[in-house]
Parts: sequence; structure tokens; C-alpha cells
Amino acid sequence: MAWKGSKMQTERSYWQPLLVLYKLARLIKATCKRLYIRNRNPLHSLRIFYIRATRPHNLRIEASSKCQLHCSGCRTGDGSNKTGNVGWGHLRFKNLKELIDHNPGVKEIELSNWGEMFLNPDLLRIMQYGYEKKIRFTANNGTNFNNATEEIIEGLVKYRFHSFRVSIDGATNPTYQTFRRGGNLDRVSINIERVNHYKGVYHSRFPIMTWIFIVFAKP
Ligand code: SF4
Repeated sequence: MAWKGSKMQTERSYWQPLLVLYKLARLIKATCKRLYIRNRNPLHSLRIFYIRATRPHNLRIEASSKCQLHCSGCRTGDGSNKTGNVGWGHLRFKNLKELIDHNPGVKEIELSNWGEMFLNPDLLRIMQYGYEKKIRFTANNGTNFNNATEEIIEGLVKYRFHSFRVSIDGATNPTYQTFRRGGNLDRVSINIERVNHYKGVYHSRFPIMTWIFIVFAKP
């Protein structure tokens, strides 16, 4: 009996490493198959993983450095930026598309800074492409939201623009226009109402709108 037992032990220790190797090979094969089915190319998915881990996720790009208002003390409003580093222009759809296509790690883009984002003539295409590529767009640095077409307003909801701030420094047109020279509070209110209308139509909570109110001392 003792002889039989030691023979069985020898057989088990002989097969064990082979069994481990067999299981490991099956695991590698299953993982490769899953990666291949998902991306058709496991090397491509490794490349995407590397890019996402090493490149920026969030960007701020000026959608427009132009503005139609003339708020006091603003370098955009008084036109000084036209000749400075900021310049005077719009972000073109083809440039943004190129940037997104070459940087698959980018997931969030802030579109406002010096100018008024809603003046950009390519905004609808930008929003649509960002939606297709799952980019989260924001304009939380601020907008005056005086000029936006019905198409753009619907696009904000339809393409799930994430959030933007609206500068409204007054509850009546005369007080609002004290700082927002050239603006019209009624137009801004109508635009906000239209966004809320489309939110109902699309059953969406986006875009999230935040009201900015700067309090001024009496001159
Ligand atoms: S709305 Fe903004 S960018 Fe335009 S002039 Fe006023 S402060 Fe400047």
C-alpha cells in the first residue's frame, strides 16, 4: 500500500505544472478573444489605454474671443483684445474635430473664457460632434446669452451640453444695461425659457444653467 501511495503522489506532482500551464493558456486565449471582439485589435485597445492614462482629460478652448456687448472694464468689450494676444475670432469646427480625433483621452472641454461662445457660427456642429464623441462641454466661465438661434438652443438640450453660466446683473433692463451695455435682458429671459422648453421636450436636465449676478455699488 505504501508503494502504491508514493506512486500516485509522483504522478500528481508530474501533471500539476502542466495543468497550471493549460489553465493559463486558456485564460490568455479568452482575454485576447474578448479584446479582439470588442476592438477587433487588442493592440489598439492597449494604445487607447496608454493614451487615456498619459494625456490630458480636460481642456479649455475659446469658442469665440468676440463679443457683441461693451461691458465697462472688459478688454473684449472695449476691443483691446483685438490687437493683443487673445485676438478676435472663432474656433472652427474642423480644428476642434482634429484636436478631438488626435486626443482620444480628452473627455471635458470648457468653451468660454474671453468672449461670447454663442456667437460662434460652428457651435451646432461642435456640440453635435462632441455628443457623438462623448465629450462633456461646459461654458462655466460665463456667457451673456443675448444671441442664440432656436437651432442652437435646441442643440444645447439635444446634444446634452453639460452646463453654462449666464451673466444677468440686474432684474430690469435699465439696471442690467448699466453694466451689460448693448445687451437686452428680455432676450436673455426668452432664451432661458426656450432652453427650459426643450428640456421638457427631450426629458433632459441638461444643460444645467447657473445665474451669475455681479453686485455693483451705485456710481
Ligand atoms: S459679455 Fe463678457 S465678454 Fe462680453 S463685453 Fe461683457 S464682460 Fe466682456
